[in-house]
Amino acid sequence: MLFKTKLSLVQLMLERKPVITKHVYQCSLSNKSFNFAACRLDKLGFFISGNKILKIAPNLQEYLSSTQEEVPIATFGGSHSNHIRAFSAVTYALRLNSLVFLRESPNGHHIPLKDLATRKGCKVMLLSPEEYKHRENNAFINNLKSQHGHFYLMTEGGTSPSSVKHLSNVFSQMETSEFDHSIVPVGMGGTIAGLASGMGSKVLVIGISSVKADKSLNHRVRTALIDADLHDHYNWEISYDYHFGGFGKAKPELTEFAIGFEQQTGIELNQTYTMKSAFAMIDLMRKGKISNVLWMNTYNPN
Ligand SMILES: *Cc1c(COP(=O)(O)O)cnc(C)c1O
Repeated sequence: MLFKTKLSLVQLMLERKPVITKHVYQCSLSNKSFNFAACRLDKLGFFISGNKILKIAPNLQEYLSSTQEEVPIATFGGSHSNHIRAFSAVTYALRLNSLVFLRESPNGHHIPLKDLATRKGCKVMLLSPEEYKHRENNAFINNLKSQHGHFYLMTEGGTSPSSVKHLSNVFSQMETSEFDHSIVPVGMGGTIAGLASGMGSKVLVIGISSVKADKSLNHRVRTALIDADLHDHYNWEISYDYHFGGFGKAKPELTEFAIGFEQQTGIELNQTYTMKSAFAMIDLMRKGKISNVLWMNTYNPN
């Protein structure tokens, strides 16, 4: 594949616009129904979709524009990383020379993702949990480069000034005048930063944290906005009321809700993020705290 073909494919990815679909959720317990709209990042493309692709594409554009092709593009991720899934799908589609530094789980939980990334042509390097902690440390990264050769590094999750700016751009171009609230799941905070900036001050964006209280999260969102040179409208907040025991954890109440929600909407949920944000949306609507809601479906089920 020609280099300029790769760049133009990335350009096409950057031009994709998410669609908004309308839904009614009938709550079996209260016998009430709730209307909401869903922003379908899952429909951005086949295999190449979800919020991760919106974050990865601007990084790829920078990589392709700044680096010689022999230099591989590398990134980090843990056993259940949607970022690695998206990264391997897109580097495969573009036939890029790619390297994945995967956190090795003592229980072997990393093996399915290792196999997937390998099938997609990524060279997978395992890092012990201890080594993995140093992934943002420059000396550690330089050491990886001396072991594995030079590489272009994309940050874990793909949050960077260019990706937050791209998210903001995409969301600012959506027709959202009918919405007062938006619900988005939060991991590292890059997506909510771009969303809040792009939606503007009329919409209150509520981020649903997948982890128990994380004091650094507000700071990370603010930093992401500043680094991307975007205006903070102070139209966002993060809720820690719906983590259901912590990252990746669930409770029967949550999984039972998810089955009904999926059946009624045809939208597949994911335990780490969108199950919790969907539950939070319905709960906040039931309590009368939010209305005219745009729910962000960040998950790529492919
Ligand atoms: C990674 C991920 C998020 C979190 O995105 P951040 O930008 O890190 O906050 C939310 N939803 C899904 C489905 C994800 O994979």
